[in-house]
Amino acid sequence: MSAPKPRASILDIMPYKGGEGTLPGFDKVIKLASNEGALGPSPKAMAALGDIASHLHRYPDGGAARLREAIARQFGLDASRIVCGGGSDQLISLIISAFSGAGDEVLYSAHGFLWYPIAARGAGATPVAAPEKDLTADVDALLARLSPRTRVVLIANPNNPTGTYLPKSEIERLHKGLPGNVVLVLDGAYAEYVARDDYSPGIELVERAQNVVMTRTFSKMYALSALRLGWAYGSEPIIDAMNRLRTPFNVNEAAINAGIAALSDADHVTRTRDHTAKWRAWLSEKLRALGLQVPPSEGNFVLARFAGNGGKSAHEADDFLRSKGIIVRRQDPSGLKDALRITIGTEDEMRAVAAALEEFLAR
Ligand SMILES: *Cc1c(COP(=O)(O)O)cnc(C)c1O
Repeated sequence: MSAPKPRASILDIMPYKGGEGTLPGFDKVIKLASNEGALGPSPKAMAALGDIASHLHRYPDGGAARLREAIARQFGLDASRIVCGGGSDQLISLIISAFSGAGDEVLYSAHGFLWYPIAARGAGATPVAAPEKDLTADVDALLARLSPRTRVVLIANPNNPTGTYLPKSEIERLHKGLPGNVVLVLDGAYAEYVARDDYSPGIELVERAQNVVMTRTFSKMYALSALRLGWAYGSEPIIDAMNRLRTPFNVNEAAINAGIAALSDADHVTRTRDHTAKWRAWLSEKLRALGLQVPPSEGNFVLARFAGNGGKSAHEADDFLRSKGIIVRRQDPSGLKDALRITIGTEDEMRAVAAALEEFLAR
């Protein structure tokens, strides 16, 4: 008897593992493993869920028109060139599937977001990783790995898990080096956290070029991870392809309502941004003072590297943190075995993780 067999590229996928949320023996853990918003969602977003239970039998608006209009108003965009999705992961998969397949290559940087190679294989394409410099995407290395088969190039800016970013000028230089038929995806999952004069999430490049698309999420700054909500802004042909391929009702009603309300709460965004910047700087300094290497981060997390620190490994540190009820994220799947990624949480959570690491390193 023969059993159904998926395409070979599907079996090459290492399933994505999200951050854990529980630890045996702990009723309550400190979860700093998934870059969730430190202050939780806006109270306005929570209120907007309303009595969703009373109309669960109705399909949502398949085109998420009200949400797209709210996003367009907020960021000064053309609503017809926005597509929403069940998380930006889904949108990234749509882009890759629409523009690449068997025999094609999908290019990203070595410590780029882990979803990119999975989405590439899901489409039957071949993921190609370009080396980085100082844990930062390297435009020359990316351009050197272009081939006639390259169809999509993805840059998370700022990048997860490294926290590093490319200035606008480097993104422009990358784009200039790409043939017109190669889609450049600018993944701005952490764009709302960046406070750098030379940074841009890429809206002006989208406006100017036919081969650029930016993706954004409500999971990080807006702290709506559970609802699964993201959006993309791109050229007309890219958005058209995504709309043809997406499932008909890919954004649910709760996400639409909460997303609109979250956008309207500018104060909550400001509070979250200020809080995150303050405790990101505090934690980075603390960890450096303990002898760990912490690259400057523009996201709501820091990467702590243990290499050469008195023979103590990131894995041992992780085990110790777990024994204290603290969950951070190992980086072995990104090829950074010596590193842990720590999300910026509340003040108490930051003090707890810093104290635990100090205790571990003093042992
Ligand atoms: C978290 C993250 C995403 C995905 O977020 P969704 O929850 O799927 O919207 C995309 N890109 C990067 C770089 C991320 O860190």
